[in-house]
Amino acid sequence: MATHIVQCSRCGTQLDLSAFAIGQTVACPCGHQFAVPPPAVGTAQPAQPPPPPGQPWQRPPQGPSPRIPPVSPPMPYVAQRRRPCREANHALTYAIISIFCLQIILGPVAIVKANEAQRKMAADPSLDGSGKATAAKIIGIITTILVWCV
Ligand SMILES: [Zn+2]
Repeated sequence: MATHIVQCSRCGTQLDLSAFAIGQTVACPCGHQFAVPPPAVGTAQPAQPPPPPGQPWQRPPQGPSPRIPPVSPPMPYVAQRRRPCREANHALTYAIISIFCLQIILGPVAIVKANEAQRKMAADPSLDGSGKATAAKIIGIITTILVWCV
């Protein structure tokens, strides 16, 4: 049986309406209700066979507009493989150690490493760890300032 994929006109979610009759009112998970449109040209099926029993999202007997699970989870962004930035991890490690000891050395080292990490991440968008680099920089600056104030 051919699948009948329809895009919700409100949220754009692709819904599998194969088991629903044309013209039947269905509800998208976003709440948008609409009538099942006829299949696109090429996959046209004049008479929709009744859905086989036992399908998890089959229309309940008394439900006025069943909720259809999306075909696939919504993907707001293109999944991208991101590599953690090693420098960012190093910078954060130095920064955390600098809180406890060797502030005068490790504080500036953390700042330098964090700057290095931020440069690398700016040059290579697939690197992940800008949060760590920022945290390392802030901690490094704080420990460096504190050590001069004490
Ligand atoms: Zn929707």
